Amino acid sequence: MKATPVIAIHGGAGTILRQAMNAEAEARYHAALTDILRAGERILADGGSALDAVTEAVRLLEDCPLFNAGHGAVFTAAGTHELDASVMDGATLEAGAISCVTRVKNPVLAARRVLDVSDHVMFTAAGAEAFAEAQGLEFVDPSYFYTEARHQQWMKARGTSGTMLDHDAMTKFASDNDLIDPDKKFGTVGAVAFDAHGHVAAATSTGGITNKQAGRVGDAPLIGAGCYANDATCAVSTTGTGEMFMRMLAAYDVSAQMEYRGVSLEDASNDVVMNKLPRIEGRGGLVAVDAKGNVVLPFNTEGMYRGFARVGETPFTAIYR
Ligand code: ASP
Repeated sequence: MKATPVIAIHGGAGTILRQAMNAEAEARYHAALTDILRAGERILADGGSALDAVTEAVRLLEDCPLFNAGHGAVFTAAGTHELDASVMDGATLEAGAISCVTRVKNPVLAARRVLDVSDHVMFTAAGAEAFAEAQGLEFVDPSYFYTEARHQQWMKARGTSGTMLDHDAMTKFASDNDLIDPDKKFGTVGAVAFDAHGHVAAATSTGGITNKQAGRVGDAPLIGAGCYANDATCAVSTTGTGEMFMRMLAAYDVSAQMEYRGVSLEDASNDVVMNKLPRIEGRGGLVAVDAKGNVVLPFNTEGMYRGFARVGETPFTAIYR
């Protein structure tokens, strides 16, 4: 029997504590995740490609008022916003990525254009913006990415030498700043899908981590670290402390373990998230699908905004462990 197409998404992982959320905020997250899953599910139900489904899901996550990739991005140490995104097609192993853009409204659409039309895989900073402009993508003033919650988050972090995962910062400062506000935006985002044609794809988009040094690039736009897709194995999108995911080639490691060790998607993902990443203090999680339609959503933090939807079924969404 042919496996049912499926899409899975995440809206970032970190210290997302039940006691720091209220019922209304939780309901908004569940509703947003469900709506976006349904949009992806519709594309897959119509026979659309996994690549189109993940691109659209991440575009919606970028635009969604509750998540941070796109509007509401975190601040760099220089007080600016620098956005990263990537997309990969498991059918062809084609990939596209952009990093350090400051004016592209939907970074994932720029990454998708790189995949579709460019001989290259990744553009950065001014070159990435020139490419996006030549492709006719929508540009915004950098102030579009400003939100008060992010600014306060950064003001707190800026006196320290440290960086912070978005959701950690939100929780840390919730007590004195009430930053766990359902109307504010936070969360690196990603999507993976398996389509009716047997193909898988992945996409990831982020503002990065609060107080990152200007010019810092995280795992999200790096093929193999924050995003990977191969029909022979699986599609993976990650979220967490990017540097550790880069050193671990986390997304590719899930695929490689399946390919070289012949283990299941679940075993490979759990090994990376629960075993290998914690050894180098890597915090976060991932969503992944294999080319049989299996889905996993493991994370080693207190919470991860996540969900999946099989065509014809009610979407599943969750926040905490
Ligand atoms: N992985 C992202 C980065 O390091 C951050 C996150 O997932 O929230 O840029």
